[in-house]
Amino acid sequence: MLNIILFGPPGSGKGTQSKKIIEKYGLIQISTGDLLRSEVMMKSELGLKAKELMMTGKLVNDEIVIGMIDNKIRENPGCAGFVFDGFPRNIKQAQILDDLFLTRKLNIDFVVSLLVNEEELIKRILQRGREQNRFDDQNELIVKNRVKLYFSETKIISDYYIKQNKFSSLNGETTIDAIFADICKIVQK
Ligand code: AMP
Repeated sequence: MLNIILFGPPGSGKGTQSKKIIEKYGLIQISTGDLLRSEVMMKSELGLKAKELMMTGKLVNDEIVIGMIDNKIRENPGCAGFVFDGFPRNIKQAQILDDLFLTRKLNIDFVVSLLVNEEELIKRILQRGREQNRFDDQNELIVKNRVKLYFSETKIISDYYIKQNKFSSLNGETTIDAIFADICKIVQK
């Protein structure tokens, strides 16, 4: 089994690279952002709760995202592995993912972080908002808050995975194919 966490700020290319990884290695992508957006589109109770927080660039409650991750893992027994995109986003989520994996005798193999400067991130997210009509990508102030939140709350998780000897960083400002080739090198090492 192969389990990878793609790590990095919003707009760093995690979604794009996840799609390439799942295609090449036959894995299941778990994007908490995509799962939440689909709940918002369905106007479910969870979606209505999440939308308010997403609209202001805040994180959704840990219990909600952890429940979604647990369901996805449960729904895919015996699969070749998972690519986590946008999860974990704080230490508590990282610890709970370890617990969820431990009880199933699974293991995170690699955490790959994509490095992109802040100005480029904001430009990319606003462009994505225009192209894909994503409700949470269109307001510059909210987008800036999301990027700020990554640096204040999420980036610190890198230490958690450095200690576990699972962490690598890559330049996320080259081309999609060059970044993917770098990820494959890490996986095949
Ligand atoms: P993303 O597409 O990964 O940038 O996620 C979009 C939004 O969904 C974020 O700005 C958060 O409001 C929410 N979200 C996604 N993943 C998580 C998570 N792991 N924990 C809390 N909130 C999340």
